Amino acid sequence: MKEIILLKDGELALKGLNRNSFEDILLKNIKYRLRACGKFRMVRGQSTVTLIPDEGADVTAACDELSRVFGIAAYSRCAVAPKDLGAILELAPVYLAETLRRAKTFKVEAKRSDKRFPYTSPQISAEVGGKLLQSFPHLRVDVHDPDVTVTVEIREDAYIHGNQCKGAGGMPVGSSGKAMLLISGGIDSPVAGYMMAKRGLELHAVHFASPPYTSLLAEEKVHDLLTKVARYSGRIRLHTVPFTEIQEAIRDTCPEDYATVVMRRFMMRVASRLAAQNDCHALITGESVAQVASQTMWAIGCTDAVAELPVFRPCVGLDKEEIITVARKIETFDISVRPFEDCCTVFTPKHPRTRPHLDEMPAAENGLDIDALCERAVAGVKLLTISAGGVNDD
Ligand code: ATP
Ligand code: MG
Repeated sequence: MKEIILLKDGELALKGLNRNSFEDILLKNIKYRLRACGKFRMVRGQSTVTLIPDEGADVTAACDELSRVFGIAAYSRCAVAPKDLGAILELAPVYLAETLRRAKTFKVEAKRSDKRFPYTSPQISAEVGGKLLQSFPHLRVDVHDPDVTVTVEIREDAYIHGNQCKGAGGMPVGSSGKAMLLISGGIDSPVAGYMMAKRGLELHAVHFASPPYTSLLAEEKVHDLLTKVARYSGRIRLHTVPFTEIQEAIRDTCPEDYATVVMRRFMMRVASRLAAQNDCHALITGESVAQVASQTMWAIGCTDAVAELPVFRPCVGLDKEEIITVARKIETFDISVRPFEDCCTVFTPKHPRTRPHLDEMPAAENGLDIDALCERAVAGVKLLTISAGGVNDD
């Protein structure tokens, strides 16, 4: 049986003049994401895209991929019939048999884009509805809240489908520019990356590693997390920064209770430099107000002050439980709870300042050659490209 996939883009419809370029990016992303599923021809229509598989293309695998492509509001897998009412009536009960057997109620919606088709939409609905009632006598019609909405669309051919699937929503990755995600091994930052990719940002990532205090397993954990995020965001370039020298310098020169905020300020400075080098115009962190001592308003104020770009914190108003719900959905949770040390847990002060003030920062950082330390950290960066398929050397 011949099938196609119909895509509906959601928010894109609101973008007016930019619509074409947004759609170009969406189609490019879809092409990249479907590359392992065989060849599909893409036909653009008004607020829909039709994907027509070549011989041998894997429609099931393609639908699975499409469920994670941002910019798609909904998609439907459809059977293709000739534009002939008899053919439609024959195919509909066969194609939808499994779905309709499990349903109690249904309705039929017909959409006739091709006005030359000799039946009106109400006529098509009535005919198909009658045929389905005949084929599945247990069904009832419910026009208000049916279990299954059967749709018949008359376009280049006749397309028949059941309930449409909800897409990932959001904006196509890349349509909002690039940003640098600060990724630890924790629960929050992968979720933050996912949320901002959903707003159309292409991701770079930076991870601060402090060997030998942190192990290679901690870095591997970050690779595994990004592999999961990449299932939604597409490819991510990861910059792994050697952070040991900075952490030791902080330990040796800073008042202990300021160590955390000073460390976080270094992360912001180094991330800002890497962002500038890579055409990224914002930083992204997994911070959430009041979750830990370094995430009070005051501490965030001190870290923000040295960031040279806007800092997006999409988790800022979420509870841990809400963040975990997203982490489970994107399959990062089980990886995040692996037990390896992160650089944040190395040299953690017993009593960090919860209300550090910006005025106190120059004294706290007095013994540190900030520029030289940042420069050496940036110079030591290791680069990897991470995709849903895994890790590649650059
Ligand atoms: P997460 O769950 O993301 O680790 P967290 O609640 O543990 O967050 P912190 O340890 O205070 O919070 O870190 C706050 C944010 O700083 C993280 O969400 C992340 O964006 C960034 N960050 C922390 N540690 C690192 C690291 N080693 N490398 C890169 N970014 C980091
Ligand atoms: Mg953490």
